[in-house]
Amino acid sequence: MTSQSKPWIRIAIVGVGKIARDQHVPAIAANPRFVLAATASAHNRLADVPAYSDLAELIAKRRDIDAVVICTPPQARYGIAKAAIAAGFDVMLEKPPGATIAEVRDLARRAEDAGVTLFATWHSRSAAGVEAARTWLRKRRITSVRIDWREDIRVWHPGQRWLLEAGGMGVFDPGINVLSIATHIFHDPLIVNAATLHVPRNAGAPIAATLRLSCGEARVDAEFDFLQTGPQTWDIVIETDAGVLRLANGGRTLLIDGDLRSTDADAEYPDLYRQMASLIDAGASDVDLRPLELVADAFMIGARREAEAFTDF
Ligand code: NAP
Repeated sequence: MTSQSKPWIRIAIVGVGKIARDQHVPAIAANPRFVLAATASAHNRLADVPAYSDLAELIAKRRDIDAVVICTPPQARYGIAKAAIAAGFDVMLEKPPGATIAEVRDLARRAEDAGVTLFATWHSRSAAGVEAARTWLRKRRITSVRIDWREDIRVWHPGQRWLLEAGGMGVFDPGINVLSIATHIFHDPLIVNAATLHVPRNAGAPIAATLRLSCGEARVDAEFDFLQTGPQTWDIVIETDAGVLRLANGGRTLLIDGDLRSTDADAEYPDLYRQMASLIDAGASDVDLRPLELVADAFMIGARREAEAFTDF
């Protein structure tokens, strides 16, 4: 059902886990256009919010729902999103939007046919420094790029075994965030030239990866590490013909030639909900597959190296 001209969008969260609790619940509460009307999750619920065990039960019992946000791991995303679109809901997808490219293309086609909004979110694009970086780069020639995306899976993702299972994308689960920023701020397309993927012998997805990419004439070197101890790093350093741009803290901090230009801790999810409301009002969708294509290309072109078994969940 379309929510155009409705003052409130009654949204349900499908898959109540870390990101739903940490970001979606407060962002929905802070946006007057949205009402958190239900959850659909097998084992988890939120206090004071009507709870259903899965989307099928939600669809059967709650025809008043306008939209769903799907916060499950990507392996479960496609079937749930198909059913949500068929039920006439506007649909917001956590990143990555699916486990494969064909799935997400199919969802976009289904949403168009059904006349509902499909928003494949990339939260890192809403980080405070990203739009200013894109604008600054428009008039510069990029000469080289260095990406370091290093975090400790044991700190940020305790118990999330799905990350290292096939389809969980491993270190590209956080790594796709920087690819979403890069595909947004660079004006030339990114191409994966070579990749090395380090896959624990008991896992189906990489725990570390090295990528060499190109962007126009510029070389882009990227290191992704899920076993980083000590300081955590989510940085892009871009050398240009007219200065050095550094996006640090996952895009939240922008420095140009060392001068701080912007910083903000928490702009991302409130911005996603503003975008979702605008898309629903316009009857439009936003599905950009480029970050997922780069991960798929890394899996396609990359050399596999066996790494030590990972048992620290
Ligand atoms: P999570 O804590 O494991 O939560 C996911 C929830 O989805 C689980 O609590 C589970 O709830 C449900 N679920 C799990 N497997 C499912 C399945 N096969 N079918 C249906 N539901 C299933 O994961 P998360 O960290 O919230 O991550 C979810 C998504 O958000 C991922 O795509 C991730 O990339 C993205 N994200 C995460 C973060 C972060 O910092 N954690 C940041 C940004 C984006 P039930 O058992 O109750 O069904």
